[in-house]
Parts: sequence; structure tokens; C-alpha cells
Amino acid sequence: MIKFKNLKTGEIKTAFSLREEGEKTYVKFSKDGKEYGYFKSNVEIISPDSDYLPFRVYIYKKECYKCHKPTEILTYITYADKPAEDVTFPYDYGRLLKHQNIVAHLQDPSIEYYGLNVIGDIKEFDHMLMEKYPERIKNTYSKTKNESYPMNVCSHCGSGQGWYFIYRDINKFIQNKEEIQVFDK
Ligand SMILES: [Zn+2]
Repeated sequence: MIKFKNLKTGEIKTAFSLREEGEKTYVKFSKDGKEYGYFKSNVEIISPDSDYLPFRVYIYKKECYKCHKPTEILTYITYADKPAEDVTFPYDYGRLLKHQNIVAHLQDPSIEYYGLNVIGDIKEFDHMLMEKYPERIKNTYSKTKNESYPMNVCSHCGSGQGWYFIYRDINKFIQNKEEIQVFDK
């Protein structure tokens, strides 16, 4: 199977085979399936290498805020002072507190507001996650942020699970010294 991106629509599709002829790329989605023609300039073949993510992907189960059924959340957790560096277990509390959002913590002492990034914080990372896991992460409108950004969607009702709740959960896990499962290295 070959993954390619339709540059016209932004969709990522999986092809059974691809062949180029003239200005067109012809794609089959199954062995005996019909051939579909795309303009070559609209097709970007995604090499297996581009599956590589420059951060660790963590996974945890969360209750959907809307339908209250359990759903899975994927996120990166990186340091606020160096967004390309993963926060790993056992946690470096000194560093996480050094870059703590103190103002937010004083207003809401229920979490520490550690200096860390999760999905919703770094646009470039969010899009990489969405490209790799298009079934789980979709562009969703947020009332809080008044814009659309890639969010984990509930596997039952499809509601986007917003940044704030995930940031809260991760703060709680770290505060409780709980190790978070790695989904993808
Ligand atoms: Zn739901």
C-alpha cells in the first residue's frame, strides 16, 4: 500500500498502486478496482519516512466531555522551554516548575500549570499528528479559542476534546507521579 496526499483537498489516501502517464497519476485503490486519474501536480507520495514524528506520542483514556463514554487521547508532551524535547518519566519537577504558568496557577490552584506543551499548543506538531492519525485527530472548531485546530475526536460521538481538558489531565498525571503510556516512539 502507498500513501499519498491529494494536494487539492489535503486528504491523505492509501492506494493499492500508482502509475504515472503524461500529466496524470493513475491510482488504484484495490487490486481489481477502477483506476482514477489525478493531475500529477496534485499528488504527493508520502514516503514511509514521513511517518516519522519528531516527538513521542502518548496515549491515555478519557471520558468524553459530551457523551461521557471512554475515548482515547493522543498527545505529545514536551517542555515549554524546549518544545522539541519530550517530557519523560520519571518527571523532572524542577524543570517543569521552573517554567510553570504561575499566574494561572494562582488563579486556579487545582493544577500546577507545569511548563509543558500538549496537543493544541504547537501548530506544526498538531498537523503532523493529524496527518498520521487522520481517523483520531481532526480539525475542530473551539469556542474557547474561537478557531479551528486539530483535536482528538471522541470515538463514539465525534466531539472534539479541547486543549484545556488535556492540559489539565496531563498536569494531574504528572503531579500524581503517574507514568503515561507511550503510543508511538
Ligand atoms: Zn463522545
